[in-house]
Amino acid sequence: MSRQATGELEALVANTRLVLLRGDITQQDVDAIVNAANSGLLGGGGVDGAIHRAGGPKILEECRSIRATQGGCPTGLAVVTGGGNLKARFVIHAVGPVWRGGDRGEDDLLQSAYLSSLRQAVSLKIRSVAFPCISTGAYGFPIERAARIAFEAVSGFVGDQPGLEEVRFVVFSQGDHDVYAGLFRSDPDRPPRPA
Ligand code: ADP
Repeated sequence: MSRQATGELEALVANTRLVLLRGDITQQDVDAIVNAANSGLLGGGGVDGAIHRAGGPKILEECRSIRATQGGCPTGLAVVTGGGNLKARFVIHAVGPVWRGGDRGEDDLLQSAYLSSLRQAVSLKIRSVAFPCISTGAYGFPIERAARIAFEAVSGFVGDQPGLEEVRFVVFSQGDHDVYAGLFRSDPDRPPRPA
């Protein structure tokens, strides 16, 4: 693990670099960015709105056609569109749960939203993907709990996926950065698994 001059943090898990940075996910130069979408896939506020604004109408058009064929995206799953005008070639639209106190399966659904996004990334055969803090804005999921689920889901997944070179956590606020940084610092470097 190393701290870079920009304040980014990195952790190596097997062959995958996990990177933490504070910034705007729409500006990330990665193969795919993940959207914290809602089941209707028709856009919304927060990061969803920012992605559609930056990526242009093509993304919404593709969301509409996914909606027409499969009726939206259930909570805990993710669907893929192109990246429109973004630097990223793809947007993985993940639907996280609305926080309802923590005993309505929220943890499992959030983990599932991350894992489903990662599976989509693998089926796209891409090398880098960036996540926002799914469900922690309008959906109200507590950041400490969400960050731990996100970090553990990604760390557990990437060990078996040598093709995924980099997973970025792109957080918006300093407070969210502090929470993720605690996880990055407490996670000991793990040696690569034997092939
Ligand atoms: P949800 O409805 O899943 O809670 P939100 O978009 O309301 O999604 O919030 C999810 C997270 O995305 C929040 O931490 C919010 O601060 C963050 N966020 C909002 N805009 C951006 C952006 N442009 N880049 C990265 N993160 C963003």
